[in-house]
Amino acid sequence: MAIAPKRRVSKTRRDKRRSSVWKLDAPQLEKCSKCGSLKKSHRLCMSCGYYNGRQVLQIEE
Ligand SMILES: [Zn+2]
Repeated sequence: MAIAPKRRVSKTRRDKRRSSVWKLDAPQLEKCSKCGSLKKSHRLCMSCGYYNGRQVLQIEE
């Protein structure tokens, strides 16, 4: 069961909260240096398992 909020947050407070920090790190994509496929930056490549010039994950074929 969902918990009902005790007090309704005003539009101003709600919008203020959402305007700051929120969604600051939108998913950024970059090309993998090894296989060239699109991957999330600062994350290992999910198609070849490489990150920062080394094999991090062994991808089974
Ligand atoms: Zn790759």
